[in-house]
Amino acid sequence: MGLVAQLAPGGPASVGLGMRIRADRYAIASASARCPVCGQWTQVVALVAPEFHERSVEGGWEIVAERASLFYVTQLSAVVRHRLASLSPWYRQAHAGPQASFVNHCERCAHPLEDHDLHCEPGGAFQPQTPADARGIAVWSIDEALDAEAGGVGHDPAF
Ligand SMILES: [Zn+2]
Repeated sequence: MGLVAQLAPGGPASVGLGMRIRADRYAIASASARCPVCGQWTQVVALVAPEFHERSVEGGWEIVAERASLFYVTQLSAVVRHRLASLSPWYRQAHAGPQASFVNHCERCAHPLEDHDLHCEPGGAFQPQTPADARGIAVWSIDEALDAEAGGVGHDPAF
């Protein structure tokens, strides 16, 4: 796995330096999370790379057989940005700048929601703990190319 460190023993998420991820299709997972500032529920989304996506490694690419959810996203192709802007305008860069992460924002108060809370904490919107939680996450298949750079991946997510 190179520079990618396992967060927790057997844990489902890895965090490391930015990895470029590409595939000929992808999915957008949509869930609900409670905003820590205003306390209201808001929609949150996450990109999901399909089985057999490509991931950059030193000197080239490797094929990853399992699905992966992406977080700490720092780069997105124009096509993916456009798709997200139409489906979920609250997922956007937290501030201007080339290295600004794309994060979900509360649709009520516009506060950014931390990817760590959504993706790495048990019970977080994209860390379901029960089959019922996982079924509450909608997944939209997008028949367009994925090209992204992400600092974190959730391995073989349950949604
Ligand atoms: Zn809020």
